[in-house]
Order: sequence, then structure tokens, then C-alpha cells
Amino acid sequence: MLRSLVRSRSCLSTLQASRRGVATLQSSLLTVETTADVKVKPELEGIAFGQNFSDHMLEVEWDQETGWGAPAIVPYHNLSLDPAASVLHYGLEVFEGMKAYKDAEGRVRMYRPDRNMRRMNNSAERLSLPQFDGAEWVECMKELLKVEESWVPELEGYSLYLRPTLISTHSFVGIAPPAKCLLYVICSPVGPYFAGGFNAVKLLATTEYTRAWPGGTGAAKCGGNYASGIKPQKEATALGYSQNLWLFRNDEGREEVTEVGSMNQFFLWKTKAGEKELITAPLDDGTILPGVTRESIIDLCRAKGITVTERKYYMDEIVEASDEGRIIESFGAGTACVVCPVREIHYNGQDIQIPLDPEDSEGQMGPLTKELFEEITDIHYGRSDSEWSVLVE
Ligand SMILES: *Cc1c(COP(=O)(O)O)cnc(C)c1O
Repeated sequence: MLRSLVRSRSCLSTLQASRRGVATLQSSLLTVETTADVKVKPELEGIAFGQNFSDHMLEVEWDQETGWGAPAIVPYHNLSLDPAASVLHYGLEVFEGMKAYKDAEGRVRMYRPDRNMRRMNNSAERLSLPQFDGAEWVECMKELLKVEESWVPELEGYSLYLRPTLISTHSFVGIAPPAKCLLYVICSPVGPYFAGGFNAVKLLATTEYTRAWPGGTGAAKCGGNYASGIKPQKEATALGYSQNLWLFRNDEGREEVTEVGSMNQFFLWKTKAGEKELITAPLDDGTILPGVTRESIIDLCRAKGITVTERKYYMDEIVEASDEGRIIESFGAGTACVVCPVREIHYNGQDIQIPLDPEDSEGQMGPLTKELFEEITDIHYGRSDSEWSVLVE
């Protein structure tokens, strides 16, 4: 008894000592080195997604023994990696996608950055990568945005896309948690997802490939999930569809609707009992990426009194609802587009038509889809007051 007490005490003190030695991520240690060699900014109109990068980046190293180093804003630069770095072999990588917007007063705003940081830490945990204090990293990102202020577009619909990335830099060709990592953020000016106005999309419900499955990594924003989606996307494009509607065939052979491309999927329909309901897949088994846009839409719709149901739902229910004329609207949701209206889903040789609002001037989206787009973009650009919009100051 006494011995075990002694042992547990010494265990505890070792743990405390090691904790003391491992530094947390601290924004107060941030250093800034600016470049005199600034780039010529690209023409905004028609700008391609993710091909132009700003003058600076933010980075910080992590080491198993010492913890997080001092974060630094430095000129945008190539990385130097050992060819054995385990990010290159086993995809030990997670990332985020978020945007900074400029409001009418020229102030820069972020949208719910705490949510992206929480998700990035959950993704890191799933991939055995180190976790960090998200609020401290947001403070560092704000400093980066101050340095890159001139890169945040002023035009409506445009923004500065932020790509926080965490990679293993550990040179070890063994499958294990890394001992060294790099966390960094790069910035890219981007335009509206639908450059020429809204265009409702056609989806291919994909039965041949699976994006995610219970117990897998679908809920983590990790590079590997996207690499395997490129081939199905290419095939869908070749057949004239914009995106894959990802399904998961369960043990009973029913096909669950999970996500669309790299967005969460929603249907507004009438239930068999005739009740209007917004439905989306639940976050409970690790198949679905917990979108910040998804969460925002659920909250906004519940506040409007719309019934929102998060449950597993199946293609057979969509087919039946379509046959019975119960589908009202359908859209994908994500940072890239906010909402992306759906006009048609091809499934098992059948085309399921989704109604679009004939009242809408462009006839490309239903009324709820449009309302959500406007409400969320009003928050992005600071036109409506919301604690979801965080000023960079
Ligand atoms: C990033 C992503 C989303 C959308 O998340 P947001 O936070 O709303 O941008 C949805 N599904 C997948 C698979 C994603 O990668």
C-alpha cells in the first residue's frame, strides 16, 4: 500500500516535471519579419481558387521534448524537409479552411475561428499529431492578417482564404506518432464560388467509391481523405456532374447520404406526416466532417423555428420523397460557397429533380437556400451584428 503510494507520487512528479518542460503555444512569443520583396497582386476578377499566395506566412515548430516553439510571421517561403519526413509517407497532415473578409469600413473580420481551431485540434488528435491552444493561434493569425491587410480583397464576395496546416516533419520511415511537426498558415485571395452568379449543380450519387465510414477519418480534415476523392470527382465531371454525392452502404444494404464533394449536405422536405423539416446527417459515428457552415445553418434555422433533424437518412427515402413530391430544396454547405444549390441527383440510373424557386430572379436556388446565403454573408461582411464575426484589431 505504502509502496504503491510512493510509486504513484513519483509517477506524478515525473509527469509534472515533463509537463513543465513542454512549452504550450504562446502568441506572446510571436516575432514578425516582413519582406521588402512584395509580390504584384493578381487581378481579382475571375481569380482562380488557391493559386495566388500572399507575401508572408505564419509558422511554429513543435518538438516532442520541448513542445511548441516561438511562432513567427516570416516571408512566404519553400519548406525544406527531409525526404524521410513522415508527412510524405503516411499522410501525417491535417488542415483547415477559413476566410477573412473586409467590411464596408475596411476592417478585417474572421468568421467563428474558434470553431476551426477546435476542429483542427480534433483532427490532430485523430491523426496522433500534437494539439495546441487554438485561441493563441487565432491571435497569431490576427497578427498575420494585420501584416497582410492589403491582401484582403474589398470586393463583395471576395475574401482572403486562410489555410492552417499541420504536418509531421519527423524524419522516420516508421508508422508512429511524430516527434517533430510544423504548424503553419498561408493566405490566398479568392473570389466567389459562383463567379457568374448562382448555378444550381447536378450531383452524381456515387455507389462505387466511399468517402468515409464509421470509425474512419471522415470527421478529420486530413489530406488523405481528399486524395482518394479526386478520381471519383474526375469521373463525375466526365459524366457532366459537378460533384459526388457521397453515400455509405450500411449492413442492411441501405445507402446513407453523407456529404457532397467537400461540403455537408442538406435537404428541406416534408416528412411523411407532412411536417416541413431540414435534414442532415449526424456527427455521431465519425463519418461526417463537422462543418462550421453546417453548424451555423442548423443554429440559424432553429432560431427561425424550422425543425432541423440530424439523423442518418438514406437514398431510398430521397427517392420516395421525390416520387411523392415532398422535396422542397437541397443544398451543400461549406466555407467555399456558403451554400451550393442542387438541381438534380443522378442515382442508380435515375435522375432525381430538386425544385428551384421560379420566383428567384435567376431561378437557381430555393428561398431557404437564398435566405441562408444572405444571412451568413451579411455576418461575414459585418453588415449584421453577430458574435460569430471576429474583428481583427
Ligand atoms: C471542410 C469541409 C466541409 C465544410 O466545412 P466548413 O467548416 O463549413 O467549411 C464539409 N465537408 C468536408 C468533407 C470538408 O472537408
